[in-house]
Amino acid sequence: MAKTYGNLINGRWMDSPGGGTIKSVNPANTDDVVGTVPASTKEDVDAAVKAARDAFGYWRLVPPPKRGEILFRAAELILKNKEELGRLVTREMGKILAEGLGDVQEAIDMAYYMAGEGRRLSGETVPSELAAKDCKSVRVPVGVFALITPWNFPTAIPAWKLLPALIGGNTVVFKPSSYTPVAATRLVELLVEAGVPDGVVNLVHGSGEGVGEVLASHHGIDGVSFTGSSAVGERLATLCSGLDKEVSCEMGGKNPIIVMDDARLDLAVEGCIWGAFGTTGQRCTAASRIIVHEKVYDRFLDIFIKATRRLRVGDGLNEETQVGPLINESQMKKVLEYIDIGRSEGARLITGGRRLCEAEYAKGYFVEPTVFADVTPAMRIAREEIFGPVAAVLKARDLDEAIAIANDSEYGLSSAIYTQDVNKSAVAERDLDAGIVYINAPTIGAEIQLPFGGIKKSGMGHREAGGRGGAIEMFTRWKVIYRDFSGRLQKAQIEE
Ligand code: NAP
Repeated sequence: MAKTYGNLINGRWMDSPGGGTIKSVNPANTDDVVGTVPASTKEDVDAAVKAARDAFGYWRLVPPPKRGEILFRAAELILKNKEELGRLVTREMGKILAEGLGDVQEAIDMAYYMAGEGRRLSGETVPSELAAKDCKSVRVPVGVFALITPWNFPTAIPAWKLLPALIGGNTVVFKPSSYTPVAATRLVELLVEAGVPDGVVNLVHGSGEGVGEVLASHHGIDGVSFTGSSAVGERLATLCSGLDKEVSCEMGGKNPIIVMDDARLDLAVEGCIWGAFGTTGQRCTAASRIIVHEKVYDRFLDIFIKATRRLRVGDGLNEETQVGPLINESQMKKVLEYIDIGRSEGARLITGGRRLCEAEYAKGYFVEPTVFADVTPAMRIAREEIFGPVAAVLKARDLDEAIAIANDSEYGLSSAIYTQDVNKSAVAERDLDAGIVYINAPTIGAEIQLPFGGIKKSGMGHREAGGRGGAIEMFTRWKVIYRDFSGRLQKAQIEE
């Protein structure tokens, strides 16, 4: 019998009065039910937003270093439970165990980092043009945040939002993906165990349409931090634009890797395999376009195909597996549809292309790692986010053409180039139109101490994660303070 998990509202775990439930299943074996959670209603959202509003008055006044101590304890607890959580991530989402553990490690890294931010939330102190007057800027919390997350990083992405929101002094209502609600619940349980006070973090399960939209547009919400598809992000931004809310969205990608004629091909192939097929291609930063210099195109393809064919697909909990299942049936159907589209557009399918459903695959959503060659920039498989194990290989005459193809996209999240020429790498670094550029590394693998996010359809509002311009910008506002201690009226800019 699968375990039942509840919502967390004002420090109490509870069912939804609506009585509906959502079943979370293992995408490698749909007979395996990971847990059930409430299919919440508007009443749950109202109660959670009220709890967060009530707790905000207290939490905003807790000194940031004290908030940081709670986050530090959370980091220690997540670390202590890393193995159990990593296995849960793999069982619920499907990524291979090494990546499940990596997902949790990202949450740990973020917890330690944001705990430290509690002593660094600095502003500016500048001189005044007037005597006996102070001028400074300080960071203040935004208020109550709605946090809405996808399924592909079940603990990392929630941690990327929860922890900076908390250190900034905000309270939150968190709606995780209904495909990975159990991992999200375990993370919240650990935050509670670390000492997050009642009402500061509230968790409401449910679908995007049933709960996410009601939450984001709720009059009691001051800010929305969303990660997911561009279609939903754009809808939320429109919905919230007239409602006086801060909205930040991290969305999709169609990320290119350029392989130059002087690149180390062994390294480039290894990077492209990891970039395209890591997490079964279900990363916003997945390398779905590989743009290869014409001089090494055939040689690259030959090595790349052989390496793709060697990949072992299977249950992520099995140690030999390198590529796990897709998250659900609709995602699997979408990937198979794109494979048909690629074929009908005239791209050359050189390996993969099939659903795997025999024996060990019978109860899961498995698709073979797939490579299309001779893809042209106008084809849909070169333009649209597929979010699965499908790589489109394109040919370019030179660096300029490769960069032009890379930039010819509605998206602009991550990008990469393999070259041994320092000048070419510098040109790519300057001219690739994306939030992230990797040199001699694939498009995936961001570290938490720098801002994360993209341009165009990939991101709007503030960036995530650490560093200057990172999530602290999302979760705090600037307030400027002038204090006059001259004891008389002094007028700035006015000559007397
Ligand atoms: P999604 O369908 O957009 O869903 C994301 C979250 O939004 C889920 O919690 C979903 O709820 C909720 N949602 C759906 N419709 C909603 C609505 N009308 N109003 C409010 N919330 C709504 O995306 P996904 O399939 O989970 O994730 C894959 C997408 O995320 C890809 O496009 C990927 O590129 C993107 N992604 C981006 C980043 C980044 O940092 N740029 C990182 C990871 C993933 P339910 O699913 O529970 O219904």
